[in-house]
Amino acid sequence: MKDLFMYSLLVLSFSSLNGCYWENFSKTERVEPIRLTAPNSIETLIDEIKSATENGYRIRMTGSGHSHSDVAITEDILLRPIQLIDVLEIDRQRLYDPEETQLVRVESGITVRKLNSYLDSQGLALPNMGGYDGQTIVGATMTGTHGSGLDHGPMASQIVSLQIVVDDGRVLQLEPSNGITDPDNFPGVLEENTDINVELIQNDALFNATKISIGSMGIVYSVVLKTDKKFWLEEIRTLSTWEEVKAPGGFLDRLINGLPLDDTEVQPEYYELQYNPYKVGGERSILITKRYKSYEPLPIDTERGQPGTTMLSGLITLLEKPLIWIVDNFQFIAPILVEQSLKSQSDESYINVSYKVFNIGIVNYTEAYAMEMGFDLDESIAAIERTFELGEQLRDKGIVHSAPVSIRFVKAADELIAMQQGRDTMIIEFIMINGIKGDRELFNTYAQTLMEEFQARPHWGLDFKLLQGTEWASILFPKWEQWIQHYETLNPNGTFDGRVTDRLGISTSPR
Ligand SMILES: Cc1cc2nc3c(=O)[nH]c(=O)nc-3n(C[C@H](O)[C@H](O)[C@H](O)COP(=O)(O)OP(=O)(O)OC[C@H]3O[C@@H](n4cnc5c(N)ncnc54)[C@H](O)[C@@H]3O)c2cc1C
Repeated sequence: MKDLFMYSLLVLSFSSLNGCYWENFSKTERVEPIRLTAPNSIETLIDEIKSATENGYRIRMTGSGHSHSDVAITEDILLRPIQLIDVLEIDRQRLYDPEETQLVRVESGITVRKLNSYLDSQGLALPNMGGYDGQTIVGATMTGTHGSGLDHGPMASQIVSLQIVVDDGRVLQLEPSNGITDPDNFPGVLEENTDINVELIQNDALFNATKISIGSMGIVYSVVLKTDKKFWLEEIRTLSTWEEVKAPGGFLDRLINGLPLDDTEVQPEYYELQYNPYKVGGERSILITKRYKSYEPLPIDTERGQPGTTMLSGLITLLEKPLIWIVDNFQFIAPILVEQSLKSQSDESYINVSYKVFNIGIVNYTEAYAMEMGFDLDESIAAIERTFELGEQLRDKGIVHSAPVSIRFVKAADELIAMQQGRDTMIIEFIMINGIKGDRELFNTYAQTLMEEFQARPHWGLDFKLLQGTEWASILFPKWEQWIQHYETLNPNGTFDGRVTDRLGISTSPR
């Protein structure tokens, strides 16, 4: 059953007397498209796309609107995913291995939250995810959304097959050359409606071009994900210092050199860092988070961090405006606030099912912006130390951080324009509560400097339009030209152009 209640809510909340508008979660982007609609089946999706192409309109699908950047937007026909949210059947006769039990097929608009609940009910789980679950699965994968841990690529790497509607209404099923589907057993029609033809293409480059394509190569109807068995995580958060973390034998030194992170047999599969951009008492604090996986059920611990931390985070979320005033007017307080945030998160043990540990919880609802840049893992120490200098320069100009800076690690990705393409990646995430003085200047200073000095790559969703034109895109993403070729093949009429392709200077029919 499609969720008609959600649909009515959407129509109510996004209609105005002057027409329809769409706004992203962080209210950084807003558009009044010619048409805002939510297809409720692949048939209506095909009709919308064919009609857009025939009439010379652009068409795009949004996810949950959680990108701060312009990636989801077109002024013409904007589709919402809220009626493409179902789990679908897999036709096992088509597979090389019909017995494979960890493949799950879903419509593109299912949220990570709903997907997690479904997987849990089946004794399955996503192998990794970001720190939040409000995104749609394809909205998340399209921008290179990631979690942390060098055994895992971005979430897009969990997709093993996808069905995409291209500009003339054809449905392509894209897979890698060693894909899950046996071409000899492929009937050439859609599982749900045998009147719809589907063309199977098993081609590595095309598959890797499409999975992360910021909505610009067609609209994905469904994906097949390779999931894991259900697992539990024990999270341990320890306060340390930058000197300890970067010293020989310290966390970063071990990670960069491929050494075990712990001196015990059991190793954490997931890990991340948070640091205070400012020294307090002569030391720079770092919070090390390690997460240990267990397929055996573990006793669940309901509260994370020091007692009262969840309540405190909730209060900060509620009392943002006074907090902004305090930070803006008493900037000396910023380092102490950030220090307190790190200390309150330290925890000897927090245990829950995997997806509840990956999800960092209530802080996701704070009205905040985040901006991410990805670096070659080997440059982690130099890049992080450069951010310390930039942080001090910004403070001298009266611009201060209002939250810890977070660091995550992601395995090298095959997807052509992934921020993790071709290199194990260290990702720095800068977070600012909305409205703090100088927030945009802070983001711009870090992004521009780190891009120029380290060839750091922006996250397609957590970015404030750093890339203008193709010059830097082609320097930062080594497979950019290859991606452009596939983009041009699948977008010959400019049907999937949008604000992002205009900004990048790659629209087929620029505006
Ligand atoms: C609170 C919060 C927490 C976050 N946490 C993380 C994190 O831990 N790690 C991380 O990496 N990022 C994180 N992000 C960033 C977020 O994951 C990405 O911006 C993601 O792309 C948002 O997904 P969405 O469903 O909202 O899609 P949107 O932002 O609405 O769209 C993203 C892109 O997907 C395209 N798209 C959507 N559906 C389709 C479709 N069916 N076919 C073709 N194209 C489609 C859109 O056109 C657009 O280009 C976070 C963002 C927020 C606001």
